[in-house]
Parts: sequence; structure tokens; C-alpha cells
Amino acid sequence: MNNKVILVVLDGLNYQVARDCMGYLNGLLEQRHSNPNMRATLYPLMCELPSLSRPLYECILTGVRPVESGVVNNDVVRLSNHDSIFSLAKSQGKVTAAAAYHWVSELYNRAPYEPVRDRFTNDENLNIQHGCFYHWDHYPDEALFLDAEHLRRTYQPDLLLIHPMNIDDMGHKFGLDSRQYRNCARGVDIILSNYIEQWLNDGYQIVVTSDHGMNDDLSHGGILPQEREVPLFVIGDKFTHQECHVKQTELCGTICQLLNINHTKPYPQELLAL
Ligand SMILES: [Zn+2]
Repeated sequence: MNNKVILVVLDGLNYQVARDCMGYLNGLLEQRHSNPNMRATLYPLMCELPSLSRPLYECILTGVRPVESGVVNNDVVRLSNHDSIFSLAKSQGKVTAAAAYHWVSELYNRAPYEPVRDRFTNDENLNIQHGCFYHWDHYPDEALFLDAEHLRRTYQPDLLLIHPMNIDDMGHKFGLDSRQYRNCARGVDIILSNYIEQWLNDGYQIVVTSDHGMNDDLSHGGILPQEREVPLFVIGDKFTHQECHVKQTELCGTICQLLNINHTKPYPQELLAL
């Protein structure tokens, strides 16, 4: 059974930039009739509020909106109070892994993050059993994807989160409407093109999305469309690839369904061919 999932969260990637600049992912959308295993669909997603990273990691990974989770800004440093895709998967015998920013380790493994202890994590008792966490916003995306692929090949996780930070970093330095921000998205698209076919062949369903977008003030956090509109690419044969409306709060339940684990999270039935 192909019940494995790779979730790629490209931090700070605006919907329109994903649409305009990521030629490989857009190419997958256009080859619908060749290989059914590689079918891909792009849905627009409206992020929950505030459009900030840590609150939306929690939203994506637990299905709970920031005002309800209490993780309402980036300075709330504590473990999550909710079931997450990691805790649900781990407690039902699945293998979990993440190559991600250290705030993810703080939400689901241990808070506060201690780099010497937590940067490389291998502990069957933690929600994220195999982790490679980083705490530099400029940690190269190329290195982060290599970290993730190392985890994937070494531990064959059922659930792997891949979370690079450079797009967001370029947005904070140069803004949404900048060559640096767009070129960073193009760079991630090229990196993804080196991995996605192999991941599909190894039985993974793939979700590529973002926590929030970016604005021209070199920031995000509010309700501007460019801050809230993010992409949702779904790739694999467990998706219907039909038109439907997906909420950011439904990603957690969607991934639980793909993993075939018990959960009480909301998910959009019409997205999944299960
Ligand atoms: Zn940011």
C-alpha cells in the first residue's frame, strides 16, 4: 500500500510566484494524460491568520487555527497542545521524520530548542522520531533537501516533512516584487525536479504548500492577498485531481487520511481518491 506522505512546506511562498516561476511543478500540471502516478493539481489556498510562520506551522500540522491553538505569534515558544500529524502517526506505529526549522522541533518534540541536543534527533519516543533541524534562516535550501533525502533513505519514514526557509528569507530581505525572491522560488523548483519522480516511484504521495505569502514591505502577518494566498500542489494517485476548495486547516486531516491513520481532523473528501 502506498500510504506514505512527503509534505513540503516552502516557507513564505506566495501563490502567484509559485504559479509564475516554478516551471517544473507547473509542467507536472500539464502532463495529466501520461503517467497517472505523476498526476499533479494546483489549488489556491488562503492561509489562516495571523499570516505568521509559527502559528501556521501549528495550523498546517494540527489543523487548528492560530486563535484557537494559542500559538498566535512567533514568540510563543512551547509544545503544541493538540494532536498533530506527527503525534497521531507516531502513536499508530508509523515512522515520522522532518528536515525543518527548529520551531517545528519546539512545537512537537522539545521546547526550547537546544541545538547541541536537538539539531540531529533520533528518538523513537518523540513525535518526530528522526529529525534534522536548523536555526539559520539562510541555511541553504539545497542542503536542507539533502538532509531530508538522507532521512528518507536511512529511515524510510511513512511521514516526512521538508521545510526550507530561503524563499521567506529572500522576501524579508528584498520583498515580494523582487528578482531575488522570485529566483529563490525558481531555485527550489529545480531542486524539487531532482527528487519528485523518485519519491513517487518509492510510493509517496506528495503535498507541496506554504505557510504564508509575502508583501512588498519585506514582511507578512496581515490580510493582504499577497500575504494570504499560497499554493497547494498535490501529486500522486491518491488524489482525485478534481476541482475542490481546500482550507489550510484541512491539510492535517488530508495527510492523516493518506497515511490511513485514525483521527478527528477535518479534511476535504473530494480531494482524496481513497
Ligand atoms: Zn517570514
